[in-house]
Amino acid sequence: MSATIAKTNVIYAMSPHNPPVQTLQDGDTAVFVTCDCFEDQITREDQDFGGIDWDRINPATGPVYIEGAEPGDLLAVHIEHIQLADQGVMTTGPNLGVMGPSLERNVVRMVPVRDGKAVFADFELPINPMIGVIGTAPAEEDISCGTPGPHGGNMDCKRITEGAHLILPVNVKGALFALGDLHAAMGDGEVGVCGVEIAGAVTVSFRVLKDKRWPVPMVMDNERVMTIASHEDLDLAAEAAVYHMAEFLAEELGMDRGEAALLMTAAGQLAICQVVDPKKTVRMELPRWILERKGFRW
Ligand code: CA
Ligand code: CA
Repeated sequence: MSATIAKTNVIYAMSPHNPPVQTLQDGDTAVFVTCDCFEDQITREDQDFGGIDWDRINPATGPVYIEGAEPGDLLAVHIEHIQLADQGVMTTGPNLGVMGPSLERNVVRMVPVRDGKAVFADFELPINPMIGVIGTAPAEEDISCGTPGPHGGNMDCKRITEGAHLILPVNVKGALFALGDLHAAMGDGEVGVCGVEIAGAVTVSFRVLKDKRWPVPMVMDNERVMTIASHEDLDLAAEAAVYHMAEFLAEELGMDRGEAALLMTAAGQLAICQVVDPKKTVRMELPRWILERKGFRW
Protein backbone atom coordinates (compact mmCIF):
# COMPACT_ATOMS: atom_id res chain seq x y z
CA MET A 1 0.00 0.00 0.00
CA SER A 2 1.06 3.57 -0.59
CA ALA A 3 -0.34 6.23 1.73
CA THR A 4 0.08 9.97 2.00
CA ILE A 5 0.36 11.50 5.46
CA ALA A 6 -0.70 15.14 5.35
CA LYS A 7 1.28 17.81 7.17
CA THR A 8 -1.74 18.64 9.30
CA ASN A 9 -0.83 15.49 11.28
CA VAL A 10 2.09 16.74 13.35
CA ILE A 11 3.64 15.91 16.68
CA TYR A 12 6.11 17.94 18.73
CA ALA A 13 7.42 15.03 20.79
CA MET A 14 8.13 11.40 19.99
CA SER A 15 5.98 9.56 22.49
CA PRO A 16 4.48 6.12 23.10
CA HIS A 17 1.21 7.96 23.80
CA ASN A 18 0.82 9.62 20.39
CA PRO A 19 -2.16 8.13 18.56
CA PRO A 20 -1.17 6.83 15.11
CA VAL A 21 -2.62 8.71 12.16
CA GLN A 22 -2.24 5.78 9.76
CA THR A 23 -1.57 2.05 9.92
CA LEU A 24 0.85 0.59 7.38
CA GLN A 25 2.01 -2.93 6.64
CA ASP A 26 5.60 -4.16 6.70
CA GLY A 27 6.88 -3.37 3.18
CA ASP A 28 4.55 -0.44 2.57
CA THR A 29 5.55 2.88 1.08
CA ALA A 30 4.28 6.22 2.36
CA VAL A 31 4.69 9.88 1.48
CA PHE A 32 5.15 12.20 4.46
CA VAL A 33 4.29 15.79 3.63
CA THR A 34 6.21 18.04 6.00
CA CYS A 35 6.24 21.61 7.30
CA ASP A 36 9.57 23.30 7.82
CA CYS A 37 10.96 23.40 11.37
CA PHE A 38 9.09 26.64 12.08
CA GLU A 39 5.83 25.03 10.94
CA ASP A 40 5.98 27.31 7.91
CA GLN A 41 5.46 30.40 10.11
CA ILE A 42 8.34 32.47 8.67
CA THR A 43 7.59 33.93 5.27
CA ARG A 44 9.47 37.25 5.25
CA GLU A 45 12.95 38.43 6.22
CA ASP A 46 11.54 41.36 8.24
CA GLN A 47 9.24 39.12 10.23
CA ASP A 48 8.91 39.83 13.95
CA PHE A 49 10.32 36.87 15.90
CA GLY A 50 7.94 37.77 18.73
CA GLY A 51 5.01 36.88 16.52
CA ILE A 52 6.18 33.30 16.02
CA ASP A 53 4.56 30.59 18.12
CA TRP A 54 7.70 28.97 19.55
CA ASP A 55 5.64 26.02 20.83
CA ARG A 56 5.18 24.96 17.22
CA ILE A 57 8.82 24.19 16.44
CA ASN A 58 10.23 21.04 14.86
CA PRO A 59 6.90 19.43 13.94
CA ALA A 60 7.21 15.87 12.69
CA THR A 61 4.54 14.40 10.42
CA GLY A 62 2.97 11.23 11.81
CA PRO A 63 3.17 8.99 13.64
CA VAL A 64 2.39 5.90 11.61
CA TYR A 65 1.84 2.46 13.07
CA ILE A 66 3.73 -0.33 11.29
CA GLU A 67 1.80 -3.57 11.57
CA GLY A 68 3.98 -6.39 12.86
CA ALA A 69 6.66 -4.16 14.42
CA GLU A 70 7.20 -5.39 17.97
CA PRO A 71 9.45 -4.07 20.75
CA GLY A 72 12.96 -5.45 20.19
CA ASP A 73 12.64 -5.43 16.39
CA LEU A 74 14.39 -2.87 14.23
CA LEU A 75 12.69 -0.69 11.64
CA ALA A 76 14.54 -0.12 8.37
CA VAL A 77 13.38 3.06 6.68
CA HIS A 78 14.40 3.43 3.05
CA ILE A 79 14.37 7.08 2.00
CA GLU A 80 13.28 6.79 -1.59
CA HIS A 81 12.69 10.40 -2.51
CA ILE A 82 12.88 13.89 -1.01
CA GLN A 83 10.89 16.61 -2.71
CA LEU A 84 11.57 20.18 -1.62
CA ALA A 85 9.44 23.32 -1.68
CA ASP A 86 10.81 26.15 -3.80
CA GLN A 87 11.91 28.35 -0.92
CA GLY A 88 13.64 27.71 2.38
CA VAL A 89 14.51 29.88 5.37
CA MET A 90 17.53 30.31 7.62
CA THR A 91 17.59 32.09 10.96
CA THR A 92 20.03 32.66 13.73
CA GLY A 93 20.38 35.13 16.55
CA PRO A 94 21.36 35.78 20.17
CA ASN A 95 21.84 32.52 22.05
CA LEU A 96 21.20 30.43 18.96
CA GLY A 97 23.94 28.20 17.60
CA VAL A 98 27.66 28.27 18.24
CA MET A 99 27.98 32.04 17.69
CA GLY A 100 24.75 32.95 19.46
CA PRO A 101 26.46 34.52 22.49
CA SER A 102 28.17 37.00 20.16
CA LEU A 103 25.13 37.89 18.03
CA GLU A 104 23.19 41.04 18.83
CA ARG A 105 20.15 40.61 16.64
CA ASN A 106 18.13 37.99 14.84
CA VAL A 107 18.95 37.35 11.22
CA VAL A 108 16.43 35.83 8.81
CA ARG A 109 17.16 34.89 5.22
CA MET A 110 14.64 33.52 2.79
CA VAL A 111 16.50 31.12 0.49
CA PRO A 112 15.01 30.32 -2.91
CA VAL A 113 15.76 26.80 -4.12
CA ARG A 114 15.86 26.24 -7.86
CA ASP A 115 17.62 23.99 -10.33
CA GLY A 116 19.37 22.10 -7.58
CA LYS A 117 20.81 25.25 -6.03
CA ALA A 118 20.01 27.20 -2.86
CA VAL A 119 20.38 30.90 -3.56
CA PHE A 120 22.08 32.53 -0.57
CA ALA A 121 23.64 35.98 -0.68
CA ASP A 122 25.51 36.10 -4.00
CA PHE A 123 26.04 32.36 -4.04
CA GLU A 124 24.22 29.48 -5.58
CA LEU A 125 25.02 26.67 -3.18
CA PRO A 126 24.54 23.06 -4.26
CA ILE A 127 21.70 21.49 -2.30
CA ASN A 128 22.04 18.32 -0.23
CA PRO A 129 18.44 17.56 0.79
CA MET A 130 18.26 15.73 4.12
CA ILE A 131 15.90 14.92 6.95
CA GLY A 132 16.59 16.58 10.33
CA VAL A 133 13.97 14.91 12.54
CA ILE A 134 13.16 11.24 12.02
CA GLY A 135 12.48 8.58 14.60
CA THR A 136 10.29 6.16 16.48
CA ALA A 137 8.56 6.48 19.84
CA PRO A 138 10.69 5.92 22.95
CA ALA A 139 9.48 3.12 25.25
CA GLU A 140 8.14 5.27 28.08
CA GLU A 141 9.11 8.94 28.04
CA ASP A 142 8.16 11.73 25.69
CA ILE A 143 11.16 13.23 23.88
CA SER A 144 10.77 16.61 22.21
CA CYS A 145 11.21 16.55 18.45
CA GLY A 146 14.04 19.06 19.01
CA THR A 147 16.18 16.45 20.79
CA PRO A 148 18.04 13.48 19.30
CA GLY A 149 18.58 10.17 21.08
CA PRO A 150 18.59 6.40 20.70
CA HIS A 151 15.11 6.64 19.16
CA GLY A 152 16.42 8.93 16.39
CA GLY A 153 14.76 12.34 16.60
CA ASN A 154 16.55 15.58 15.77
CA MET A 155 19.83 13.99 14.66
CA ASP A 156 20.38 16.54 11.87
CA CYS A 157 22.63 14.09 10.04
CA LYS A 158 23.30 14.96 6.41
CA ARG A 159 23.66 11.29 5.52
CA ILE A 160 19.93 10.79 6.19
CA THR A 161 19.14 11.58 2.61
CA GLU A 162 17.68 10.18 -0.57
CA GLY A 163 18.74 6.60 -1.18
CA ALA A 164 19.86 5.95 2.40
CA HIS A 165 18.45 3.33 4.74
CA LEU A 166 17.99 4.49 8.33
CA ILE A 167 17.71 1.74 10.93
CA LEU A 168 15.76 2.67 14.06
CA PRO A 169 14.68 0.82 17.20
CA VAL A 170 11.14 -0.43 17.71
CA ASN A 171 10.39 0.44 21.34
CA VAL A 172 6.60 0.12 21.25
CA LYS A 173 4.16 -1.93 19.22
CA GLY A 174 3.81 -0.43 15.76
CA ALA A 175 7.00 1.65 16.20
CA LEU A 176 5.09 4.99 15.86
CA PHE A 177 7.37 6.47 13.21
CA ALA A 178 7.39 10.17 12.26
CA LEU A 179 9.61 12.56 10.32
CA GLY A 180 10.00 16.27 9.58
CA ASP A 181 12.49 19.16 9.58
CA LEU A 182 13.82 18.88 6.03
CA HIS A 183 16.90 20.83 5.06
CA ALA A 184 17.63 21.80 1.46
CA ALA A 185 21.28 22.17 2.45
CA MET A 186 23.27 21.75 5.65
CA GLY A 187 26.93 21.37 6.50
CA ASP A 188 28.28 19.05 9.18
CA GLY A 189 27.88 20.73 12.56
CA GLU A 190 24.85 22.88 11.72
CA VAL A 191 26.80 25.57 13.57
CA GLY A 192 24.39 28.45 13.00
CA VAL A 193 21.51 26.43 14.55
CA CYS A 194 19.69 25.73 11.29
CA GLY A 195 20.09 24.31 7.83
CA VAL A 196 18.24 25.75 4.87
CA GLU A 197 14.95 24.89 6.58
CA ILE A 198 12.27 23.91 4.10
CA ALA A 199 8.91 22.23 3.67
CA GLY A 200 8.57 19.25 1.38
CA ALA A 201 7.53 15.64 1.02
CA VAL A 202 9.46 12.45 1.67
CA THR A 203 8.71 9.04 0.21
CA VAL A 204 9.85 6.19 2.44
CA SER A 205 9.31 2.45 2.56
CA PHE A 206 9.43 0.35 5.70
CA ARG A 207 10.85 -3.05 6.51
CA VAL A 208 10.69 -4.67 9.94
CA LEU A 209 13.89 -6.51 10.87
CA LYS A 210 13.20 -9.34 13.31
CA ASP A 211 16.63 -10.86 13.80
CA LYS A 212 19.09 -7.98 13.92
CA ARG A 213 20.72 -6.78 17.13
CA TRP A 214 22.43 -3.70 15.76
CA PRO A 215 23.37 -0.60 17.80
CA VAL A 216 20.88 1.84 16.32
CA PRO A 217 20.40 4.41 14.96
CA MET A 218 22.42 3.32 11.95
CA VAL A 219 22.50 4.58 8.36
CA MET A 220 23.51 2.59 5.30
CA ASP A 221 23.98 4.11 1.89
CA ASN A 222 25.72 2.87 -1.25
CA GLU A 223 29.10 4.02 0.02
CA ARG A 224 29.06 3.68 3.78
CA VAL A 225 27.79 1.99 6.91
CA MET A 226 27.32 4.44 9.78
CA THR A 227 26.55 4.43 13.48
CA ILE A 228 25.04 7.54 15.07
CA ALA A 229 25.13 8.57 18.72
CA SER A 230 23.98 11.64 20.63
CA HIS A 231 24.94 13.02 24.04
CA GLU A 232 24.95 16.36 25.87
CA ASP A 233 28.76 16.08 25.81
CA LEU A 234 30.29 16.03 22.32
CA ASP A 235 33.23 13.89 23.47
CA LEU A 236 30.88 11.27 24.86
CA ALA A 237 28.76 11.33 21.69
CA ALA A 238 31.93 10.67 19.68
CA GLU A 239 32.96 7.79 21.95
CA ALA A 240 29.50 6.25 21.74
CA ALA A 241 29.46 6.39 17.93
CA VAL A 242 32.80 4.55 17.86
CA TYR A 243 31.72 1.94 20.41
CA HIS A 244 28.50 1.39 18.51
CA MET A 245 30.45 0.64 15.34
CA ALA A 246 32.63 -1.80 17.28
CA GLU A 247 29.44 -3.48 18.55
CA PHE A 248 28.12 -3.70 15.01
CA LEU A 249 31.39 -5.19 13.74
CA ALA A 250 31.33 -7.77 16.56
CA GLU A 251 27.67 -8.64 16.05
CA GLU A 252 27.67 -8.79 12.28
CA LEU A 253 31.20 -9.90 11.40
CA GLY A 254 32.50 -11.41 14.63
CA MET A 255 35.32 -8.87 14.75
CA ASP A 256 37.09 -8.41 18.08
CA ARG A 257 37.49 -4.99 19.67
CA GLY A 258 41.17 -4.53 18.89
CA GLU A 259 40.69 -5.36 15.24
CA ALA A 260 37.64 -3.07 15.10
CA ALA A 261 39.63 -0.20 16.64
CA LEU A 262 42.39 -0.62 14.06
CA LEU A 263 39.92 -0.82 11.18
CA MET A 264 38.19 2.36 12.34
CA THR A 265 41.43 4.22 12.92
CA ALA A 266 42.66 3.34 9.41
CA ALA A 267 39.47 3.61 7.37
CA GLY A 268 36.73 5.09 9.53
CA GLN A 269 35.57 8.69 9.38
CA LEU A 270 34.33 10.16 12.65
CA ALA A 271 32.17 13.16 11.80
CA ILE A 272 30.03 15.67 13.63
CA CYS A 273 26.39 15.78 12.57
CA GLN A 274 25.35 18.72 14.73
CA VAL A 275 26.48 20.63 17.84
CA VAL A 276 23.45 22.88 18.35
CA ASP A 277 20.65 20.65 19.64
CA PRO A 278 20.14 19.75 23.35
CA LYS A 279 22.27 16.69 22.64
CA LYS A 280 25.10 16.74 20.12
CA THR A 281 25.25 14.09 17.41
CA VAL A 282 28.26 12.28 15.97
CA ARG A 283 28.56 9.51 13.41
CA MET A 284 31.22 6.91 12.61
CA GLU A 285 31.39 6.00 8.94
CA LEU A 286 33.04 2.90 7.48
CA PRO A 287 33.30 2.22 3.75
CA ARG A 288 30.71 -0.33 2.81
CA TRP A 289 33.04 -2.25 0.49
CA ILE A 290 35.27 -3.21 3.40
CA LEU A 291 32.37 -4.76 5.27
CA GLU A 292 31.12 -6.48 2.12
CA ARG A 293 34.59 -7.97 1.59
CA LYS A 294 34.11 -9.51 5.03
CA GLY A 295 30.76 -10.94 4.03
CA PHE A 296 28.30 -8.23 5.09
CA ARG A 297 25.16 -8.13 2.98
CA TRP A 298 22.34 -5.65 3.08
CA1 CA B 1 16.96 19.97 13.27
CA1 CA C 1 16.25 22.08 11.12
